[in-house]
Amino acid sequence: MGVMDAQTHRYYTSMFSYRHAFHAGNHADVLKHTVLIAVLKHLKEKDTALTVLDTHAGAGLYRLDGDYAETSGEAAEGIFRLISPSKTPPTLVGTAQAATKIVAPETPEALQDYLDLVASFNAKGSHKVYPGSPFIIQRFLNGRDKLKAFELHPTDSKTLSANIAQLEAGRQVVVLREDGFEGIKKFLPPPVKRALVFCDPSYEIKSDYARVPEMVADSLKRFATGTYAVWYPIIPRPEAHDVPRKLKTLATKAGKGWLNATLTVKSSKLTSDAQGEVVRPGLPASGMFVINPPHTLKAAMQAALPLMVKLLAQDQHASFSLDSGG
Ligand code: SAM
Repeated sequence: MGVMDAQTHRYYTSMFSYRHAFHAGNHADVLKHTVLIAVLKHLKEKDTALTVLDTHAGAGLYRLDGDYAETSGEAAEGIFRLISPSKTPPTLVGTAQAATKIVAPETPEALQDYLDLVASFNAKGSHKVYPGSPFIIQRFLNGRDKLKAFELHPTDSKTLSANIAQLEAGRQVVVLREDGFEGIKKFLPPPVKRALVFCDPSYEIKSDYARVPEMVADSLKRFATGTYAVWYPIIPRPEAHDVPRKLKTLATKAGKGWLNATLTVKSSKLTSDAQGEVVRPGLPASGMFVINPPHTLKAAMQAALPLMVKLLAQDQHASFSLDSGG
């Protein structure tokens, strides 16, 4: 399977994950990757070397036109709604037209940056490939910057290594088949004194909810001035609500600034079908909590979130929130 890297005009053969492909490009990815790009854009304004630790990296590249993505159709309720809001039923996944501008009078910069970056992984006129966090991060690296990408799953780790190898990034990008929560400890503090930790667990294992704030607490002790960006699901489970609450407490106690952006696309209430069977709504909402956020992030998200809600809303419960402190 080949992928056109439109930015460098390189054509390389890529492996794809069929596990995360169910979710690639969904509304949670739109939020987390828009925030990630806005953070990286600001951090890269300075010429000083940057270390990025991606604790849960995934496979790196995903097909939006493969069997699995089509079965799930989550991109149809995510990025495809931004590209072509009026014509994105699930059947159009993989055939929707690539667009450089979304249908809105003025596209907020953070959302446009996100769409441009995704488009740059695709040949003109198609949106078949979705870049995961390590490939997004890699685009911002130069000079002495480093990316350590942790991926524990054997298949995804192998896929990620093969995909990254084709970038010929040398020692700048290292894939580690290790537990990201533990593995980042050896890289903090970074030698270059600037670091971003991007933490994006799947929360399939219940202990992830507790391990996230534990990791951030430990990391802040090792490197208090790092930027920590954490994605979390917003679902009716107490441990899920605890994640942003604990992160806020940690940031406040450490005297650090924080920002919490959430995006809700639909109600979290269970419904029932015609046969009276309970229908689970799928992920209704998620959030990005950032400690030591760039000072530009709040304005960037303030501009982008209302349009995200408008385009990604699945019912009248769609909304966003944006809080900050410190
Ligand atoms: N960050 C990726 C992106 O934005 O494209 C998506 C990551 S996906 C939500 C979570 C990934 O974490 C899965 O690929 C899973 O195999 C991996 N994983 C689960 N537990 C892990 C752990 N303790 N350390 C490292 N990776 C882990």
